[in-house]
Amino acid sequence: MPPTEADAEPVPAEQEGAATGPDLVPVARRASFDALMEDREFATVDIAMEEMRAFAQQRGFAVVKSSGNGSRVYVVCDRAGTYRNTHGLEEYERSRQRLSRKCGCPYTLRLTYANGRWHLTTANGHHNHEPSACTFVHPSKRQLNQEQLQFARALVNVGARPTTIVNELERTFDGTVTTRRDIYNIRARAVEETLMGRTPTQALVNRLQAEGVAVAVEMDPLRQLTRVFFSCQ
Ligand SMILES: [Zn+2]
Repeated sequence: MPPTEADAEPVPAEQEGAATGPDLVPVARRASFDALMEDREFATVDIAMEEMRAFAQQRGFAVVKSSGNGSRVYVVCDRAGTYRNTHGLEEYERSRQRLSRKCGCPYTLRLTYANGRWHLTTANGHHNHEPSACTFVHPSKRQLNQEQLQFARALVNVGARPTTIVNELERTFDGTVTTRRDIYNIRARAVEETLMGRTPTQALVNRLQAEGVAVAVEMDPLRQLTRVFFSCQ
C-alpha cells in the first residue's frame, strides 16, 4: 500500500537553514556569529583584547578574559559559566537580566605566548545562544551604573590605565561592556572636578599644602605660577 500523506516522515522542526519562527537568526548572520577568529599575532594581550572585543561586538556578543597563566590566556563569551554571587549582594539587588545572562556558552579563544608574540586561536567557535543586539548600536548597554562608576573613578584616581580599568570592570561586574573611550571620559570629568578651575600646577600646590608638605611658589606679575619648590622630610 503506498504511503498516505499522514504517514509521511515529519519534517524536523530544526532543519538546517530552515526558517521555523520569527526569532530565528538568518543563516548568514548565524555563520558570522559562530565565526572563527582567524589565527593572528599580537604584541600584547591588551591589544589582542581590543581586537577580540571589536570582533565580538560586531557579531552581537561580548568576550571577557577567563583564566590563564604567564604564557596562556583564555578569553570566553560573556555568557560562559553559570551565575555565581561574587559581590555579597542579595539576589534581589542584582539585575534580573544579569542573573539570566550566563548560560554555559562554550565559545573560547586562546592566546598563547611564544617567540615574543601572543598567538590567537579559536578553541571553540560555537555559541549555545543567539546573538544579542549589537552593543555598538545600543550605547545604553555601555552606561555604567553608580556602583560601577565609583569603581572606575577609584581606579582612575590611583592612576590605573584605561585598558586595565576596562578589564577590571569586566571582571568585577560580569558582562559590563565599556571601552577605553568611556574611561577617558570618566578621567576627563575627574580631572575637571579636581581642578575646579585651577591649573594643574595650582591644584598640585594646594594638594601638597593640604598634606603638610612645605611648598614655596614663585609667581609672575599676572599671579601665574612660574616655579614650585617643595620638600619632603
Ligand atoms: Zn556565547
